[in-house]
Amino acid sequence: MAGTQIVVAEDDVAIRELLRDHLQREGYAVVAVEDGHAALRAARELADLLLLDLGLPGIDGFDVVRMLQREGRLPPTVILTARAAEIDRVVGFELGADDYICKPFSPRELLARVGAVLRRRDGTQALRTLSLGRLEIDERAREARVDGHSVALKPQEYALLVELASNPGVALSRERLLVRAWGFDFDGGERTVDAHVRRLRAKLEERFNLPPFIETLHGFGYRFRRA
Ligand code: CA
Repeated sequence: MAGTQIVVAEDDVAIRELLRDHLQREGYAVVAVEDGHAALRAARELADLLLLDLGLPGIDGFDVVRMLQREGRLPPTVILTARAAEIDRVVGFELGADDYICKPFSPRELLARVGAVLRRRDGTQALRTLSLGRLEIDERAREARVDGHSVALKPQEYALLVELASNPGVALSRERLLVRAWGFDFDGGERTVDAHVRRLRAKLEERFNLPPFIETLHGFGYRFRRA
């Protein structure tokens, strides 16, 4: 749970502060925002989970989810809602949310829902093997293989590869890659990401003569090619 970042998007200051307090007490890192624009920005970069009020100023919660979905960047999401009409639309899977909770809610119930969504996410990730043509990433073994041959990767190279390969076709900023592979307290520059991508290319693409799978997005970051 350490380092798990939750974005709380809620314009009601009392509810926002209540959520922040309870989540922080559970050990989560919390970024609390009060409008849809800030919710979008925060969720795009850093969120492990988005706790989203639907009735937000700026961009409403429905549109926040839709926009993130379209970009392939919707984190696990728990919707907060007060209105019965909204519940119907959320439950009808019009939204790609993982769960929802109605106001007024008990903090205990909310924490239970958040914990369940995060465990589900971690469970899916822990058991995963990503097959990407000749390249295979076995997350249980923490191993990358090409044509069945194990490739020795340093921990950060491996973390970077997993983050890229888990988001095929998605533009990932250097900042996000840094946070995902190195964590929040890493104080090296974003050039560190470039150096590690070079090593991944040498160890995987060049050594095994694979077609290039990591694209450089100049002035921004990197993107893993869709298979
Ligand atoms: Ca609201």
